[in-house]
Amino acid sequence: MHLSRFPRLRLAHLPTPLEYLKRLSEELGGPEIWIKRDDCTGLSTGGNKTRKLEFLMAEAQIQGADTVMTQGAVQSNHVRQTSAFAAKLGMKCHVLLEDRTGYTDDNYNHNGNVFIDLLHGATYEKRGPGLDMNAEMEVVADKLRDAGSNVYTIVGGGSNATGALGYVDCAFELLHQANDKDLVVDHIVHATGSTGTQAGLIVGLKAMNANIPLLGISVRAPKETQEENVYKLAVETASKLGCDGVVNRDDIVANSDYVGKGYGFPTEAGIEAIKMFAELEGILLDPVYSSKGAAGLIDLIRKGSFKKSDRVVFIHTGGSASLFGYTKHFDFADKA
Ligand SMILES: *Cc1c(COP(=O)(O)O)cnc(C)c1O
Repeated sequence: MHLSRFPRLRLAHLPTPLEYLKRLSEELGGPEIWIKRDDCTGLSTGGNKTRKLEFLMAEAQIQGADTVMTQGAVQSNHVRQTSAFAAKLGMKCHVLLEDRTGYTDDNYNHNGNVFIDLLHGATYEKRGPGLDMNAEMEVVADKLRDAGSNVYTIVGGGSNATGALGYVDCAFELLHQANDKDLVVDHIVHATGSTGTQAGLIVGLKAMNANIPLLGISVRAPKETQEENVYKLAVETASKLGCDGVVNRDDIVANSDYVGKGYGFPTEAGIEAIKMFAELEGILLDPVYSSKGAAGLIDLIRKGSFKKSDRVVFIHTGGSASLFGYTKHFDFADKA
């Protein structure tokens, strides 16, 4: 497999650091927790979508697009990174935002990622919950095309085989760093949503024969559904790379015990994880994704799912900009 065969616009700050979380590891009493800082990809407060967009936006440019469209939840990190990338390329960006929570407060609806989308010059339309948002987007894109625009549409989360190439690359990058540090990685854990991150990672890890189990902590779908969806995209991604058959169904492992009430609703354990990372390590997680991933990691450690001698890498997929859309969920009064 040879990633340079695919068009790519290099915008991310890579490699992202791989760091040891000493205080968090000590607080939890082992295993060693390491963090892959994909919150530091550099584009408009960073995050995992930047790696995917390097490949997706290259395709958009080759197709001569003047406008890019995508869709996501109101506080979507993917939408923010897409608006920023479009700004950098001088393309227009129009997005659909889905109201998945029903929150009516001002910060949720106008601050955080929404504020940054507008800063980058994006325009948006809102939709109620439960629609096929990719289909909704294509309807709007066709209208823009009828009016003369050349529109490139990106599926939610940038999770197709093109976007997943960004995480195949991340697997290479991570293994290279671990080898350089003489670090034996026993497990990799991260938050999984629209599936591109997990699908890309597993294809990269399997293609290199890394022999490191990968665990996706689901932020939305039940385990079985999430695993099937990741598997489907992993198979497509492997095929695009010419390494069919490299991923087996049982390589795909998701845990959906930390979703809580549903996508976009913070959980108590997630808020605890945000506070722990902030207070022990000076690292910002987000309420929708990385905090649920970290809550899963912390709970599994407390339950003894890992050996004390293990080295676990948590991939920080970003999202801290959405903290400003979720301020009402943090109660600092008990600290006064
Ligand atoms: C999108 C996102 C994820 C999930 O990645 P997928 O590729 O959609 O599975 C995790 N964390 C953050 C902060 C995200 O924005």
